[in-house]
Amino acid sequence: MPGFEVFGAEEKKEIAEVLDTGVLFRYEFPSERRGIYKVRRFEEEFARYCGVGHAQAVTSGTAALKVALAAMGVGPGDEVITQGFTFVATWEAIFDVGAVPVFAEVDDTLNLDPADLEEKITPRTRAIIPVHMMGAPARMEEIMAIADRHGIPVLEDTAQAPGAAINGRKCGSFGLCGTFSFDPVKTITTGEGGMIVTDDEALWRRMSEYQDHGHDHVPNPGGRGGEGRSFIGFNYRMMELQGAIGLAQLAKLDGIIESQRRNKAALRQVVSQLPGVSFRTVLDPDGDNASFLAFFLPDAAAALKVNETLAANGAGAVYFANNTWHYYPKWEHLLAGSTLAKSGWPFKEADGRRRVQYDPQALPKSAAIMDRLLVYPVPIKLSDERLEQIAEAVKAAC
Ligand SMILES: *Cc1c(COP(=O)(O)O)cnc(C)c1O
Repeated sequence: MPGFEVFGAEEKKEIAEVLDTGVLFRYEFPSERRGIYKVRRFEEEFARYCGVGHAQAVTSGTAALKVALAAMGVGPGDEVITQGFTFVATWEAIFDVGAVPVFAEVDDTLNLDPADLEEKITPRTRAIIPVHMMGAPARMEEIMAIADRHGIPVLEDTAQAPGAAINGRKCGSFGLCGTFSFDPVKTITTGEGGMIVTDDEALWRRMSEYQDHGHDHVPNPGGRGGEGRSFIGFNYRMMELQGAIGLAQLAKLDGIIESQRRNKAALRQVVSQLPGVSFRTVLDPDGDNASFLAFFLPDAAAALKVNETLAANGAGAVYFANNTWHYYPKWEHLLAGSTLAKSGWPFKEADGRRRVQYDPQALPKSAAIMDRLLVYPVPIKLSDERLEQIAEAVKAAC
């Protein structure tokens, strides 16, 4: 990670084709665009890559979550369960459709703990969002069994795991739908961008309409201006330039993952020298997108001490227990209920009553795991010098 490491002639060629037509908009302009539909083709090829029937491109991974939840009919009065180790976008989107996020524990996969998920289900639960954090799959078999038993749809936040799989089945294709991000630090990037994949054609149609102001996209003599609307929507449309870059990046995805797997194996070899080290559970090593190497020390004190030495030797790892963007107890604005809305929404009702309050101690099992966790991002291009530097740092930490 990330995909800009391998930007090259392919991305330039794709963009040039768009600029040559002058059409940056994904719809309309049939004569000017001369048959070039980059976003539409990116959707078709992304769906095929994931092994599903439909894909909807949008402006970001956050928008993908929002559009998916909206199309699933999730709104005020509903609860959505996700995990306490994820990027803030996952629960921002839940709030943005008017629902309330409920946080569950992670287990040694660093993804949703199925046992705690089941504990958190209430009569108000309308969706479950497992997040495939740092390139490796959540326990989808167990999660789907629980969700199906309760009749609750699953949306997989696959922003960090394009191309990851369990027994050959791609992440994002297990649940009702799966969302992806192409932001600047993701495995493939279009600068900004997102995608939702699904096998449910009716759901896909609602997404397609919602992300385009409700346009029903039914051909008619009046063209786009004459299209009808079945419900209110919003604008989350992807541009042709993003679609063009996405096509070039998608074609490189399997190669990116192959390089990352090689580099991750080399890093793992080095890190395994640390006394007492253990590694994150990866359900299917052949399905690892391999963008991160996650390892545990015996306790928090050891993790902090080892990382101090690694950092002093130019090879500090990420200590996610202190990360303010990805970990529940560090989301101070969530815990404080900070919002721009004068009413206090979404933390308070319109009448001022508290709607939801988050307790920083609510996820003790996650804390016991996260406190011992260190993580190296895995680059697509890892030089011998950098690997040697990390090896020296690990030696010092031993
Ligand atoms: C990056 C990310 C998102 C949001 O994607 P953007 O394209 O940056 O909006 C959502 N969920 C997770 C887990 C992410 O890592």
